[in-house]
Amino acid sequence: MGKVNILGVQVDMVNAAEAAGKIIEMLEENRPHSVYTPNSEIIMMAYKDAEFCRLLNDADLLTADGIGVVYASRILGRPIAERAAGYDIARLVLEHIAESGHRLFLFGGKPGVAEQAQERLLQEYPFLNIVGCRNGYFDAAEEPEIIDAINRSGADIVFVCLGAPAQEKWIDRNMNQLHVKVLMGIGGSLDVFAGNVERAPQKWQDLGLEWLYRLIKEPRRFVRMLALPKFALTVLFKGKRYYKGGEE
Ligand code: UDP
Repeated sequence: MGKVNILGVQVDMVNAAEAAGKIIEMLEENRPHSVYTPNSEIIMMAYKDAEFCRLLNDADLLTADGIGVVYASRILGRPIAERAAGYDIARLVLEHIAESGHRLFLFGGKPGVAEQAQERLLQEYPFLNIVGCRNGYFDAAEEPEIIDAINRSGADIVFVCLGAPAQEKWIDRNMNQLHVKVLMGIGGSLDVFAGNVERAPQKWQDLGLEWLYRLIKEPRRFVRMLALPKFALTVLFKGKRYYKGGEE
């Protein structure tokens, strides 16, 4: 499996199906694995924060969540064929674990969202083994309790949905204490599973315009999305240096 170095972040060149295949293999190994799905905003954070960049590169799987990252890989001459969004990968993994019986824990979102997601997922996959839910609003003192709850649940896989970069940092900080096989940092996916947020229609996704759809639906994202043109310019002007292994 190849990687492309995008501003220092080593992104795996996989599509959603290949990423799900890797995660299914991880479920058979007896150690915790981390899976993150960086978009251009997250890669820009890593570009400006060496420790965050290190943390991303320590992941067992890093997929290109967003058309910006796919374009960047093209500019750098190592094209990733298509985006591998966290939500799409999660769906494929759900289809597998609904049959295999692996235990799933839902962590993140506002109070009640994980439970709502559980209810909707069970309508769709009646045999899905969801062993726990926990909202994503807590202070540092509550962390040991959350870790304990996940461990006691016997979960094999946890969807960690705290938003970036909180979820990646949480996973990196705590994974060695967790007796699970896979930790996936997948942002707002629980809101989508709960039915509170819609994915863009397939046509918009196919045209690479999911970001525009989300912007129209949630205009408060405008400031965050300013990272996108900055990302494009940085990749254009500085990306090749990274790719050749040069220093800034
Ligand atoms: N969230 C959380 N704890 C926090 C802050 C945010 O659980 O302290 C949740 C929030 O409720 C939302 C998700 O994290 O469900 C972030 O969603 P967003 O769409 O902003 O993330 P993205 O997918 O864009 O990273």
